[in-house]
Amino acid sequence: QKETILGVDVSVETYESLKSKLFSAEAEEKQSFIVAVNPEKIMKANDDPSLKELINTADYQIPDGVGVLIASKLQGGRVTDRITGIDLMIELVGEATSQGKSIFLYGAKPGVAETAKQELEKQHPGLQVAGVMDGYEQDNEKIVENINASGADLVFAALGSPKQEEWIRDNRERLNVSILQGVGGSFDVIAG
Ligand code: UDP
Repeated sequence: QKETILGVDVSVETYESLKSKLFSAEAEEKQSFIVAVNPEKIMKANDDPSLKELINTADYQIPDGVGVLIASKLQGGRVTDRITGIDLMIELVGEATSQGKSIFLYGAKPGVAETAKQELEKQHPGLQVAGVMDGYEQDNEKIVENINASGADLVFAALGSPKQEEWIRDNRERLNVSILQGVGGSFDVIAG
């Protein structure tokens, strides 16, 4: 279910197939790490083996940009559905609400994750937000402890790329969460 563009893996999925796979894995207590890729990141990764490795270490690389679809088409590939980071996040928040799973919002400037939480709660009545934390906390132990103590099932990390992906890679083993997605500036967008 993957294709490679300039050495970077890209998942061949739809919102529905991804949601289904991620929550099936969650039910089996398997962890999933999702990274968004766009043409700019693919070009950068093509010149930077460590960035390529970081992207490819994720479980899903979503095609967040029409340029990825075009590149796939040019090489006779099967990536036909654009999946944006923010839209996938909203889909996962909806599914988490239906399934009674809780989310943690980690990242953005102080106050932003709290406002995003309030907006998401308005849009998804019944949503459980286990916690929020800004992306400028320096004590990583505190961050990991907070997330684990919250009991969250999903973590959205909004630190920008590749910082959020490095953070997920470096901490996923210690985090008792099932779904980890890097979402860039999404909290700022949701907070408005
Ligand atoms: N950010 C953060 N901690 C940092 C650096 C950035 O929380 O140390 C946040 C920043 O406040 C913003 C987000 O990360 O909310 C980055 O958004 P941007 O749109 O630049 O990310 P991209 O999607 O382009 O990677």
